[in-house]
Amino acid sequence: MKKVAVIGAGTAGLASAIRLKSLGYDVTIYEKNDKIGGRMNQIKENGFTFDVGPTIVMMPKLYQEIFEVSGADYKDYIEMLRIDPMFEIQYRDRTTLTASNDLVRMTLENEQVSEEDAQGYMAYLAEVYKRYLVAKNHFIDRSFRKPSEFYNPKMLYQGLKLKTLSSAYKSISKYVKNEKLRQSLAFQTLYIGISPYNGPSIYTIIPMIELLYGVYYIKGGMYSMAKAMEKRFLEMGGKILLNQNVEEFIIENKNIKAIKVNGKISENYDAVLSNVDFPWAMNNLIKDNKNKGKYTPKKIDKMLYSSSSFILYIGTKKRYNLKPHTFFFTNDFNGNINDIFDGKTPDDPSYYVYAPSRIDSSMAPEGKESLYVLVPVPNKSDSPEKWDEKQTKAYTDKILDMMSYHEVFKDIKDNIEYLKVYTPNDFETQFNLQFGATFGLRPTLLQSNYYRPQNKFKFLNNLYSAGSSNHPGAGVPIVLNSAKLAVNELHKDLK
Ligand SMILES: Cc1cc2nc3c(=O)[nH]c(=O)nc-3n(C[C@H](O)[C@H](O)[C@H](O)COP(=O)(O)OP(=O)(O)OC[C@H]3O[C@@H](n4cnc5c(N)ncnc54)[C@H](O)[C@@H]3O)c2cc1C
Repeated sequence: MKKVAVIGAGTAGLASAIRLKSLGYDVTIYEKNDKIGGRMNQIKENGFTFDVGPTIVMMPKLYQEIFEVSGADYKDYIEMLRIDPMFEIQYRDRTTLTASNDLVRMTLENEQVSEEDAQGYMAYLAEVYKRYLVAKNHFIDRSFRKPSEFYNPKMLYQGLKLKTLSSAYKSISKYVKNEKLRQSLAFQTLYIGISPYNGPSIYTIIPMIELLYGVYYIKGGMYSMAKAMEKRFLEMGGKILLNQNVEEFIIENKNIKAIKVNGKISENYDAVLSNVDFPWAMNNLIKDNKNKGKYTPKKIDKMLYSSSSFILYIGTKKRYNLKPHTFFFTNDFNGNINDIFDGKTPDDPSYYVYAPSRIDSSMAPEGKESLYVLVPVPNKSDSPEKWDEKQTKAYTDKILDMMSYHEVFKDIKDNIEYLKVYTPNDFETQFNLQFGATFGLRPTLLQSNYYRPQNKFKFLNNLYSAGSSNHPGAGVPIVLNSAKLAVNELHKDLK
């Protein structure tokens, strides 16, 4: 039986491991932390349960597929509930916008804006759905080993159909005129850490995916998915080793023979599938520049990175009446986004509040709420911020003040029972994310598809890689696909 070491027990690591096991490989996962999950992690304190990173479940089929490929029924592992309304936006002028994917509710809500915009909304959906099918069938569901697989007339024609040169915001503005409606269909690019004002317009598919395929919640929070994958992998006979800091790939003649873990050399492996953030892995796990191919430290430094996140995890003494997903938008939405990508920590930010305890009583003690407050901030390459204790405290106070402005949170500062804060530093050190960029490499046109680090590493014979900074990109469902592509590539070579 061929042996594969999977480095990292994040979403893509666990999903790859299950797929490899299903194909008959002997699989061992090495994880540096004392818990599986990576960014899909959990904080459990004083009766409060918080998801650390991902919270919004989209494309549920991709979550389910990972159990199905291993011969199991996903319903025995996770309980998925559809959320409707999907989210609410609260504006500074105290108006709200509720996003539903119930066609009747959505139409009535849009007609409140104008009939013209309601019609434009439908036209946007029809057009973007067309582009989504092209993206899915020709780019997201396949990897690119050789230039000829990308540079051929068929692919270039499909690429043109994506019409990706304009920005997400500009593309949406062609269909709807109302500024708030435009923002409600453009801000989702922040889910993958790029600006709606200059991120490729193809990412307007994100709100379309929410609308057409729904937004879901997994009982117990997102971490239940990580635990479910761990359970399935262990049932299949896989091995997970925790507190194993992988320090180096031991390479001979372009082959990884073994890995150096906690100062010791491991047994030999036939292949390595790395779930470590790709730029970080290049800088730290391959020591000799000759084996890095084009990914030298200089190149890694020059690449563009997604935004980072500043997050408050708040356990409150009382309940707060809000939707499970609420976005609080600042007046100067455009200025706020520009700040993030110009490397300025926003002074007047928009932020997102996730309140899973509104729909799942297991997430907080009775009569209390568990709140996750995410503020998009620049990554550490774009910004000089140190996020030391003083700055972290000042920014925490600012966000709590901003929350108190809204009626729903007017007494929040008097009702905090538990508070934990994650800054870009925490994401950098806890999960080895280059520059603390919480969504990995920024998916610009020149860092997407063929130009994104591929799932088969070209410059060594037996290294494969899956995760947010690899093809096809960030976000749980997309990273689950990355695992599928990486395992397919590995199996092509090893079977
Ligand atoms: C704040 C935040 C909010 C998000 N919101 C959403 C959302 O709502 N919906 C959504 O779909 N996606 C969301 N995402 C994105 C999603 O979480 C990620 O794309 C996905 O979880 C990343 O998985 P991964 O497998 O690529 O990497 P990771 O989860 O980072 O896994 C990598 C693993 O490798 C381990 N590792 C690193 N270095 C070593 C080493 N040297 N030795 C051993 N192990 C090592 C790490 O500890 C980690 O466990 C969010 C992300 C963040 C951070």
